Amino acid sequence: MRVVLIGPPGSGKGTQAGLLGARLNLTSVGTGEILRAAVRQNTPIGQAVGPLINQGLLAPDSVVNDLVAELFRGAQRPDNFVTDGYPRTLAQAVAFDALLRQQFLQLDAVVNLAIGDDEVVRRIGNRRSCPNPTCGASYNLLTRPPKKAGICERCGAALVLREDDREETVRRRLNEFHRCTDSLLEHYDRQGLLRTVSALDPAETTFANIVRSTGVK
Ligand code: AMP
Repeated sequence: MRVVLIGPPGSGKGTQAGLLGARLNLTSVGTGEILRAAVRQNTPIGQAVGPLINQGLLAPDSVVNDLVAELFRGAQRPDNFVTDGYPRTLAQAVAFDALLRQQFLQLDAVVNLAIGDDEVVRRIGNRRSCPNPTCGASYNLLTRPPKKAGICERCGAALVLREDDREETVRRRLNEFHRCTDSLLEHYDRQGLLRTVSALDPAETTFANIVRSTGVK
């Protein structure tokens, strides 16, 4: 199964990509995580995109497309996958279509996780992330608090509010998301791939709805 997840920040894309990955044995392709790793490792790409990420702006299409192409053309090419945060623009979707065609891979579904802006701001303000690069666990003070306040359950690091999870930045990320997404959704709708699923339910319900909407057995 090959599925693209589209949704604003805080819609639960990462959580759903994790569940789909683990339960359906799909490789999770998360461009946010790939870019954050480049920033941590201070690579030339990381140096270029770090300030953009912190301001809630998108990385250039060409940079993201190249990173994804490298992944799909490499020896570790994922055959079955779920993407989390890619494609984010129409230009990325067109490039991804071409890449997949070249690799003789076909998408099965594009899931649009639907949620309003105010709910996103509320959710993300309560998100706490593990800054440890080898861990990267994510918690929510309302729905999934860590057992010990402020401490990562997996690795013991002190949890942080990500720079790009601050309200002002989240609002900017939402503006970016809306500016880019309409044409993206239309693109996949024209291909008959688009499924819209509410992101307001608990994660397990949303997961079941995604599975049902994509027709996976
Ligand atoms: P995410 O973790 O998916 O919310 O991504 C965090 C940040 O990484 C975004 O706010 C963007 O700055 C950048 N980013 C991630 N994926 C993409 C993409 N497909 N295109 C452009 N920028 C991206």
